[in-house]
Amino acid sequence: MKNFEYAGAETVERATMLCAEKGTKAIAGGTNLIDLMKLQVETPARLVDINSLDDRRIEDTATGLRIAALASNTAVAVDQRIRVDYPVLVKAILAGATQQLRNKASVGGNLGQRTRCPYFTNIDQPCNKRQPGSGCGALKGVARIHAILGTSLHCIATYPGDMAVAMAALDAQVEISGPDNERRTVPVREFHRCPGDTPELDNILGSGELVVAVHLPAPVSGKQLYRKVRERSSYAFALCSVAAIVDVKRGKIARADLAFGSIAPKPWVDERLAQMLVGEKPGMALFEKAADVLVDVARGVGDNDYKIPLVRRTLIATLCEATEVWA
Ligand code: SF4
Repeated sequence: MKNFEYAGAETVERATMLCAEKGTKAIAGGTNLIDLMKLQVETPARLVDINSLDDRRIEDTATGLRIAALASNTAVAVDQRIRVDYPVLVKAILAGATQQLRNKASVGGNLGQRTRCPYFTNIDQPCNKRQPGSGCGALKGVARIHAILGTSLHCIATYPGDMAVAMAALDAQVEISGPDNERRTVPVREFHRCPGDTPELDNILGSGELVVAVHLPAPVSGKQLYRKVRERSSYAFALCSVAAIVDVKRGKIARADLAFGSIAPKPWVDERLAQMLVGEKPGMALFEKAADVLVDVARGVGDNDYKIPLVRRTLIATLCEATEVWA
């Protein structure tokens, strides 16, 4: 690990002001950042500890819930309001990491976690995300966990998390504070970026901007599921995942909010799926058609080709479970 300065911030204003300075990173739980610093993937000149901001609340709002960015993953997963009204979020969080990590990991940090591409975490390897212009080791290398949608010639990494996939299905909003204390809100669905020709940028945060909260919309009716496919049953990142909020009324699908994890550089939402499904009678033929649409432009690079049939099957299985259609 490289030496770094350490500073505390008692207020959001001070934290964002300090974070606007080059080479400065905010630290909350540190469950991803510290690992990356040990590997010298991240080499901040200064860390700003935001743990003393002291806003870990999960509050009712006029339209839903506001979850402070410093709330731990565990606090979110055990909150009774979230367990009752947003179970997809609880299921996604509990499918991720371990209890110890969830106790430390913050909601803001979880949104900002970085890819687990092995070329990104090995500083001896080329990686455009870590070192722009150095090349992409995964494109012609080992790419089993990599993306099949939303990639570019410069990067095929996935966003690896679970929590944000559920938040995307719920259409949650991210509250962001900037260096002049101005606030803005963006949908979780637009928070992470596809790589294009700037793969070093994972999300839309500008210099000095900090995530301060996530807003959940008003609860909706329907079954909420999170189905995660991974190589072992705990403490593993997804090969693919599906977050689903599906409602069936009078024999027809009334809601089909779907988001997908670990198949793209961001939680993946395809608006065409809800358009196809809503208003239709649930059934295998319909689900097969929706799954075809999901992967119609998906491309693997060899090692990860298996993800195309895998996410297709996972979507169909999730829809069958949600609508109680059994083939
Ligand atoms: Fe780096 Fe992205 Fe290529 Fe992985 S896929 S080596 S993160 S540029």
